[in-house]
Amino acid sequence: MVGEVRREVVALDLGGTWIRAARFSPTGKIGKRARDRTAAHLGPAAVVEQIRDLVETVGPADPGARVVAIGVPGPVDPFTGVVEGAPNLPGWGAFPLKDRVEAEVGSPCLVDHDATLAALGEHRQGAGRGFRNFVYVTVSTGIGAGLCLDGKLFRGGQGKAGEFGHIVVDPDGPPCHCGNRGCLEALSSGTAIAALAGLPSAAAVSRAAQEGDEEAAKVLAQAAWHLGVAVGGSLINLLNPDAIAFGGGVFAAGPAFWDQMTAGVAHGSFRAPREHCRLLRAELGEDQGLVGAFELAMDAGPVGTTPAGV
Ligand SMILES: [Zn+2]
Repeated sequence: MVGEVRREVVALDLGGTWIRAARFSPTGKIGKRARDRTAAHLGPAAVVEQIRDLVETVGPADPGARVVAIGVPGPVDPFTGVVEGAPNLPGWGAFPLKDRVEAEVGSPCLVDHDATLAALGEHRQGAGRGFRNFVYVTVSTGIGAGLCLDGKLFRGGQGKAGEFGHIVVDPDGPPCHCGNRGCLEALSSGTAIAALAGLPSAAAVSRAAQEGDEEAAKVLAQAAWHLGVAVGGSLINLLNPDAIAFGGGVFAAGPAFWDQMTAGVAHGSFRAPREHCRLLRAELGEDQGLVGAFELAMDAGPVGTTPAGV
């Protein structure tokens, strides 16, 4: 189109601990990066100021030359950019992040769930390349998933698809912060593994297991098994994906965790779709959310270009 000017993308990954930012050229080349400790305890207005500072640090100075794309760690309406709450971000209920950021930085802003953006990033540039039906599963403090089906991001009717962590695996299981019982997140997340073993973190449970602590090893094995059964029944049987990639800190627990998970997958799924589905490790590491945010901005089309008449 004559007169079309592609904007640069300032991608942000908003986490409970860090906000990470990176500048992408319109062709996807990563430029300047910056990060800041999330001032979560100061509430959303303070975090918006941090986002503004990061955008100004990494992005082009001209607000008309950039588009901002943000991944958030909780339920969000990707169509309105309203964050509906996040376990790691107190006070974020019904917060209009997109509107507030646009007012603060003067550039168009897109907002989506971090697991959704991780899935999009892995699908376009990571482990999911070339797979038409691809699922990304993250297992860290929480558990989430993003779906790329028939080659496209699948969000569901309200943008809430992919809440894999809140599939009930054991109706009589431990309470989940969502209000239900026995969700996968209450059984297999890093937070759950630490709580079930009575240790400060999943990494501590993993270390204890490697040093011969049988109770710690049992907690890890059960967490991995529940995860695998849910992957088998709720992802492989339901969606018949070509590949599923796994990321998140809990996989640092070692090969035993992966092996127990795949045993659970075998228990929970039909043979033909299981044999078809590749189980992979995610490839993009900490950049997956940033890459996904860049891809989201590219997909948004007109928002990544100078609007007609401007
Ligand atoms: Zn739950």
